[in-house]
Amino acid sequence: MIERIRQLEAVARRLEPAAAERDALIAPVLGYANDFLNRVDNLPAYVTTDDKGIGIYDSPIGDAPVGIHDLLAMVGEHVDRPGLNPASGGHLGYIPGGGIFHSALGDYLADVTNRYAGVFFASPGAVRMEHMLTRWMASIVGFPETSAGNLTSGGSIANLIGVVTARDARQVTARDIPRSVIYLTSHVHHSVDKAIRIAGLRECVIRHVPMDARHRLDANALERLVSGDVAAGLRPFLVIASAGTTDVGAVDPMRAIGDIADRHGLWLHVDGAYGAFFALCDEGRKVLGGMDRADSIIMDPHKGLFLPYGSGAVLVKDTRAMQDAHFYVANYMQDTQASRDEASPADLSPELTKHFRGLRLWLPLKLLGVGPFRAGLEEKMWLARYFRERLLETPGFDVGPPPDLSVVTFRYVPPKGDVAEFNQRLVQAIHADGRVFLSSSMIDDVFTIRLAVLAFRTHLDTIDLALEILKEKIAELS
Ligand SMILES: *Cc1c(COP(=O)(O)O)cnc(C)c1O
Repeated sequence: MIERIRQLEAVARRLEPAAAERDALIAPVLGYANDFLNRVDNLPAYVTTDDKGIGIYDSPIGDAPVGIHDLLAMVGEHVDRPGLNPASGGHLGYIPGGGIFHSALGDYLADVTNRYAGVFFASPGAVRMEHMLTRWMASIVGFPETSAGNLTSGGSIANLIGVVTARDARQVTARDIPRSVIYLTSHVHHSVDKAIRIAGLRECVIRHVPMDARHRLDANALERLVSGDVAAGLRPFLVIASAGTTDVGAVDPMRAIGDIADRHGLWLHVDGAYGAFFALCDEGRKVLGGMDRADSIIMDPHKGLFLPYGSGAVLVKDTRAMQDAHFYVANYMQDTQASRDEASPADLSPELTKHFRGLRLWLPLKLLGVGPFRAGLEEKMWLARYFRERLLETPGFDVGPPPDLSVVTFRYVPPKGDVAEFNQRLVQAIHADGRVFLSSSMIDDVFTIRLAVLAFRTHLDTIDLALEILKEKIAELS
């Protein structure tokens, strides 16, 4: 038996490289990363290839080790080339993400030390770091310090946590579902619809609240709907507002919605995945009033704080409600109960074991201070306004309203021919060009092009380039 163990150990120990081997791995990986960063300003935002990364299948997972240089070549060719380049400042589609370098260092440390950030007993320091970060976020949106928070993988899971907490706090059980009412607009992010479905609330009465001309929830219409439902014997329990919709970046009137929620005992969940962090800057705070009225709110550091993908957050004012919706005990976890000075992230989320996400956020915030984040966010707002003003000066554009935050909508109206078809071809031409990336949407059934500014590498020159490319492609297509 011992002989077998020794044989296995000899192979298993390859999982632990010695110092010299580590150096031999780190150097090429750092080299790849540095080369990427040195070139990123000149890399396209979108690359169309015929193979679409299929070459990654040519080297299947198996027993044969492959050297780091070959592997980096594969990543470079099949992964980091085709498709959208979210690290590019030219990413102006959807809601752009981030990828600041400092976070990569935090991830490296978190991965090497592998602290167990799910449970206070296991890593009290890691858990306190995460709580400090969610408390800081609470201060940004005007939530009390006593609010509970959780760092999630992104906005979708954060919305799920919010919806599940609302369901349990308002004690909606199976028999109540057909007469329980949820209010939202048709511009709410689809991850909220998904959360409602996953939470077993699909068969609630779902009311789509009318919006004003700028796609903000119409609070008067909400009041009428809720009053009508109460009079009809239904049970309104949840209203969802957006602090920045994905389509147009609209901010719902959260104060007015909060008043209605208070009057009727509704849980107010605010989706601030895209917009909430804009409250860090004065310009953003002007439009984001009333976030403090929410019972739960989500915000995505991998959008508004320029972090790499994998960072969302949810805050809930009523700590007990969040715990009650997620807390669980298990015999094999009994030792963890010995140390409960602070809530454990695992008690506030569907996740038990999780990536130690705090470090990738704490490190950049501490290294840089909050200033550059605040400036970056205000810069993005002005860039969106600047882009819109330039479009207004250019003949032929049908331009959407001034942006609440940093999304501008528009389409080009050619002198003749089908407008939607022209704009579809325009988007395709921009994708084929690849220097910048814009996306489209159907807004009030109209094919519309969107420009969303949130990538931290997007600056004035990027917006000028986008304008230049638009004019160039329109001339080519006309
Ligand atoms: C991006 C986004 C989400 C979903 O968040 P993920 O991090 O992509 O899961 C939810 N709501 C809004 C408004 C968003 O912009």
